[in-house]
Amino acid sequence: MILILEPNTDLEGEGHRRLMQYLESLPNVQTRVHQVKGAEQVLTEVYLIGDTKSLSVEDMAALPTVERVVRVSEEYRVIGRHDTDQPSLSFTCNGVTFSQDHLHVFAGLCAVDTPEHVEQMMRALQAEGQVCTRMGAYKPRTSPYAFQGHGRDCLPWVFELAGKYGIRVIAMEVTHEAHVDEIREALERTGHPTAVMLQIGTRNTQNFELLKAVGRQRDMPVLLKRGFGITLEESLNAAEYLASEGNHQVIFGLRGVKTHMGDPHRNLVDFAHVPVVRRLTRVPVCVDPSHSVGGRFRSSDGILDVAHATIQGVVAGANMVLVDFHPHPETALVDGPQALLLDELAPFLQDVSLARETYLKRLELWG
Ligand code: PEP
Ligand code: MN
Repeated sequence: MILILEPNTDLEGEGHRRLMQYLESLPNVQTRVHQVKGAEQVLTEVYLIGDTKSLSVEDMAALPTVERVVRVSEEYRVIGRHDTDQPSLSFTCNGVTFSQDHLHVFAGLCAVDTPEHVEQMMRALQAEGQVCTRMGAYKPRTSPYAFQGHGRDCLPWVFELAGKYGIRVIAMEVTHEAHVDEIREALERTGHPTAVMLQIGTRNTQNFELLKAVGRQRDMPVLLKRGFGITLEESLNAAEYLASEGNHQVIFGLRGVKTHMGDPHRNLVDFAHVPVVRRLTRVPVCVDPSHSVGGRFRSSDGILDVAHATIQGVVAGANMVLVDFHPHPETALVDGPQALLLDELAPFLQDVSLARETYLKRLELWG
């Protein structure tokens, strides 16, 4: 059960003290207080965990400072959409706001290789008015002999270049808890020229200890990729792990699922799940067309499959697009075959805008 308190409730005030005193007296019920600081008001939610079946919604709504009560189903207590009126979970990272109402493109390198390539990528993004990118420093690879990413060594220069080109948020995968500290230290040492959205890759979707560690920190939002060989429900539970540890700045990423039914694509594109994730949860939904499609296939209409897949996600209401680009894909150390070229950035972004406009028109049509 979630108690949504009146906006700007004073947590030191008498009303809140009486509310908490009452809640603490309930047998087998634990409370967890969560505050969301918006631009104009502070919203407080109190999560009641445990034996809440016997509590009545009316009784709880009559308690001091409580504005509304939502009875949640057992699953996805924090990220779940238990009630259609509940606002989507929204957060702002270094001036960029994410929610189920926004759309941001994170075009960039699958893996950081050279400063020249990072700089060329960021310069191209700035020229297109983009403030987000993807830059992999820690790469989980199938083969132990494949390039594992530059790791912590590249972080200072990647962050400094991001600052130079006005990049506000970088999506960056972490495969170990220690990477979170390395990223935090490098941001501090370079004076926070940019911000990082931590990414949990599909190979770690159910690495529960990593999820707990990343969920315990609140300074960086987290993009969780769905597991490529597990059900959607299992992946959504993984996202709930992050939120249950206290970090509600979560984005859920679709990236295709592993099956030969998807051939010749690298994975079977699963973007029909965009509306499903939006219905079941309140978190923004990302699509990764690059790791879904996995190659520069081009249809009979001349359009790249990666672009087609992107648009399928956006037209269905996706809130973020994570996509691989590279100035010289033939030299890329990871996933070169699926990278788009820098001169494809402008048409790609225009295509995304067309699809977004269509989605907004669809909202009016059906609304
Ligand atoms: C990536 O985005 O670089 C990546 C490795 O993706 P995934 O975890 O979806 O394979
Ligand atoms: Mn990749």
